[in-house]
Amino acid sequence: MRPWAGVIAAYRDRLALPEGTPDCTLLEGNTPLVPSVALQRSLPGNLAIFFKYEGLNPTGSFKDRGMVVAFARALARKARVCLCASTGNTAASAAAYAARSGLRCIVLLPEGSIARGKLAQAAMHGATIVSISGPFDNAMRMAQELVRQRPEIELVNSVNPFRIEGQKTAAFEISDTLGDAPDFHFLPVGNAGNITAYWKGYREYADAGRIARLPRMVGFQAAGAAPIVEGRVIPDPQTVASAIRIGNPASWKGALAAASDSGGWFGSVTDDEILDAYQFLAREEGLFVEPASAAGVAGLRKVAAQGRIPPGSHIVITLTGHGLKDPDMAARVAAPKPISIGPTLAELVHAIEG
Ligand SMILES: *Cc1c(COP(=O)(O)O)cnc(C)c1O
Repeated sequence: MRPWAGVIAAYRDRLALPEGTPDCTLLEGNTPLVPSVALQRSLPGNLAIFFKYEGLNPTGSFKDRGMVVAFARALARKARVCLCASTGNTAASAAAYAARSGLRCIVLLPEGSIARGKLAQAAMHGATIVSISGPFDNAMRMAQELVRQRPEIELVNSVNPFRIEGQKTAAFEISDTLGDAPDFHFLPVGNAGNITAYWKGYREYADAGRIARLPRMVGFQAAGAAPIVEGRVIPDPQTVASAIRIGNPASWKGALAAASDSGGWFGSVTDDEILDAYQFLAREEGLFVEPASAAGVAGLRKVAAQGRIPPGSHIVITLTGHGLKDPDMAARVAAPKPISIGPTLAELVHAIEG
C-alpha cells in the first residue's frame, strides 16, 4: 500500500486544478470514519452511525482539506500574501499552510470570541492577527473589501472556490470507505462552505458511478446563530459554539441547494443540546471534539427522537474539529479538579475510593 500523500495527490484527477499546480501538503485528509458505539445504542431503530473525525487533520479541523488546495492555487499564481476572516480554525489552518509555503498570512478575527487553542496556533505559525469588533460577519466583509482594493492578496476563505474543491474530498473518502454514500449526512453549519462542498463531492462521485445513491444532507445551526433556519440575517449571533457563530453565511445559497436537492433539511439546536452532545461524545464515545462539532450529533439526537429517521438508516456525522481547540470550554463543563495527595499508597487508595 502506498503511504497517504494528502488530498491533492489522492484525488488530483477529481479536483478542478490547473495543470502543474504545486503541492504544499501537510498530508491532510484520510481521517478515520469511526463507528459509533454509545450514540447508536442510545437511539431507537438499529441505526448504523459513523463519525468522520476531522479533528485528526494536521491543524485539528476539516479546514485543512480546502486550505491545501487554496494554497496550491495561491502558489501557482505566485501570491505572496494570504488573508482570511475566521472564527478560528480557518486562521489556524491558513497560518500553518502559509508557514509551510513561505507566504505571509493575515487573519481577521472577531474580537473576543476565538477559542484559545486556535489563537495559539495562528500565533505560533507567525500570522499577523487583527481583531475586529463585532461579529465574524464584520471580519468577513472587511476581508472581501481589502482584496477588492488589493487583488494581489489571496483570499483563502471558503468563498474561494478552491477551498470547496478540497473540502469535497471528505465525501469521497466516506464513500470509498463505506462502498456507497450513507442515507443521511449530518453536520454543523456556520459559513456553510462545508455542506456545500460535501454535496458537490457526493454528486460528482455519483456522476462518476462511484456511488449508487446520494445522501440526504442535514445541516444544524446553533439556535442563537441560525440564519438559514430562520431565513434572515442574524445581526448579533450568539452561541457557545464559536466556530459556527455566524449570522450571514457566505455559502448560504449552496447550503440551501444541498438540503433541498438532496431531500434534506436544516435545523437548530440550543447551546444546552450542543454541550450535552459535546459531553456525551467525550464521555461515552471517547471522542473529544470542540463544541461546534457536536452540533450534528445534537441534531441527530433531536430528529431521531421526533421519529424522522427510518430504522436501519446509515448515517455519517462530521465531527469538524478537535476538542483541544477550546480548552476553556472543556474546563467549564467538566471542571477538572485533581484530587491532591502526598506520595503514599494509603492516601491514593483513600482518594480513589473516597
Ligand atoms: C468552520 C467550522 C464549522 C463550520 O463550517 P462551515 O463550512 O463554515 O459551515 C464547524 N465546525 C468547526 C469546528 C469549524 O471549524
